[in-house]
Amino acid sequence: MRVVLLGPPGAGKGTQAKELVARYEIAQLSTGDMLRAAVAAGTPIGLKAKDIMARGELVPDDVVVAIVGDRIEQPDARRGFILDGFPRTVPQAEALDAMLDEIGKPLDVVLLLQVSDEVSLERLLGRRAAEGRSDDAPEAIENRLRLYHELTEPVVERYRANGTLVGVDGEQPVEDVAREIEDALAQVGAPQA
Ligand code: AMP
Repeated sequence: MRVVLLGPPGAGKGTQAKELVARYEIAQLSTGDMLRAAVAAGTPIGLKAKDIMARGELVPDDVVVAIVGDRIEQPDARRGFILDGFPRTVPQAEALDAMLDEIGKPLDVVLLLQVSDEVSLERLLGRRAAEGRSDDAPEAIENRLRLYHELTEPVVERYRANGTLVGVDGEQPVEDVAREIEDALAQVGAPQA
């Protein structure tokens, strides 16, 4: 099963991706997690990404596309994966299409976790207090929400147009969101957990 999880920052992508990984034994490919690991390890990519991420801006497309390209070829991603936080721009979505075309494995479904800007802001400020992520500061959140609307919403519309998009109300309690996702996956013929 190959799934993309889209939604604004704070929509619950990471939380739901982890649920799916446990339930379906597929790989979680989170560009945010991979970039944070690169920053923590001080790799060349990490050094390049650090300040961009702290400001809540987007790391250049070629950098994230290369990371995902490497990751998608790893053995654990062969039985399926959930992409969380990618693609965030139309050029990233085009690059993903090309990668999947090459291996002859299209996406099964794109799940959109829908939450309002108000809920997103509230959750990120809550997470800031709990986890201290530098990009959960108010100015960075503002950038992240703005870029989501400007650059990621066109990606949502692209998947809506090709019929792979399923919307899920992300403002419900975590278990209810998980249940709705499970129903959506059953409808596209995903294997039962
Ligand atoms: P996330 O954990 O998904 O909220 O990502 C945290 C930060 O990592 C984002 O605000 C961006 O700076 C960067 N990032 C993660 N995924 C991408 C992506 N697909 N394209 C560009 N930047 C990304």
